[in-house]
Amino acid sequence: MIKKITCIECPQGCQLEVNVEEGRVIGLTGNKCPKGDVYGRQEITDPRRVLSSTVLAKGLEIKMVPVRTDKPVPKSKMFAVMEEIKKIRLTRPVAVGDVIIANVLGSDANVAASREVGP
Ligand code: SF4
Repeated sequence: MIKKITCIECPQGCQLEVNVEEGRVIGLTGNKCPKGDVYGRQEITDPRRVLSSTVLAKGLEIKMVPVRTDKPVPKSKMFAVMEEIKKIRLTRPVAVGDVIIANVLGSDANVAASREVGP
């Protein structure tokens, strides 16, 4: 079966055609570079996304601190990661990139601050 997907690794948005049989990728065309090959295969076998959200802050200059994962996390874990993020009450100032949850749910991705927040 041919699955058509759009590569989201860069703005060119190549249209990939992935040949899938019994859940395995047996061919891929349409990519203009190797990143598209990696993306297309992973999108079929283990789709992942970077997750952006906010955590609640207490006693800091803002009440909602924007965060994002520093690596894509499996789509199957997105809701569970959101639940972990909801549990956080940030009480210390952070800089961009400061880790707020390390290795969230064993995904190898950290949830990190995406803006600086002072006291
Ligand atoms: S295949 Fe390469 S050139 Fe095409 S969208 Fe993906 S990253 Fe960009």
